[in-house]
Amino acid sequence: MKILIVFAHPEEKSFNAAMFQTAIKTLAKEGHEVKISDLYKMNFDAVSGKENFTILKNPEYFKQQEEELYASLDNTFSVEISAEQEKVEWCDVMIWQFPLYWFSVPAILKGWTDKIFSMGKFYDNGKIFNTGYSVGKKAMLAITTGGPEKNYVHDKYGDIHSILFPISRGIFEFLGFSVLKPEVVYSVERLSQEQRKTVLDNWAQRLKNIDKEKILN
Ligand code: FAD
Repeated sequence: MKILIVFAHPEEKSFNAAMFQTAIKTLAKEGHEVKISDLYKMNFDAVSGKENFTILKNPEYFKQQEEELYASLDNTFSVEISAEQEKVEWCDVMIWQFPLYWFSVPAILKGWTDKIFSMGKFYDNGKIFNTGYSVGKKAMLAITTGGPEKNYVHDKYGDIHSILFPISRGIFEFLGFSVLKPEVVYSVERLSQEQRKTVLDNWAQRLKNIDKEKILN
């Protein structure tokens, strides 16, 4: 399979980086083709605006989605955006690896989302969910949290699937992706070194069978 891993952590010795490297190594060893977007290393500019485009349809009044529709006609997206869009179009499976920030993605990954998934190319009027352009592809979240698992329940932080719903439903499924179970490592800083090693081993084991995984409904 063709697998894109989008990685959003600024520290290459972090546990997220260890998960990212484990995924690259394991998937390649299993014979999958792997492409990556290491957003901090790329110094990805997360600010979405006029610079997304090489020419503007309406320089007098900027409306991002209208410019996206226009840019889709002749591929007049910026070089950086175009390169990322090609990776998403190329992949069968997309994995996002990041630490949970404010119950969401780090800003650099939010900016990547705002810029890459443009109207006309990844969704359109009537082309969402099961008619979206990414139908047939799968997506998975691989995240770490600071908070412990016992707090991710309804009457405390909220359960993790509700917290991740804006991403899994509002981005992945909206675009047509089928969603795999998220890989969630709770309270990673409080685990022992031994426990963290086991987490990485289990992560590698899961990835070895990624092609056989059932989607979440
Ligand atoms: P690290 O601190 O990098 O790693 C943890 C430990 O693992 C370290 O001791 C490291 O040395 C060790 N390690 C690294 N590599 C390996 C390896 N190969 N084998 C074994 N051990 C290894 N948390 C929440 O729960 N909810 C939130 O909403 C939330 N919001 C946040 C918002 C912001 C802005 C920030 C900065 C943090 C927030 N957090 C939140 C906490 C955050 O999610 C955690 O700090 C993060 O998930 C920890 O992951 P890490 O990769 O940075 O851990």
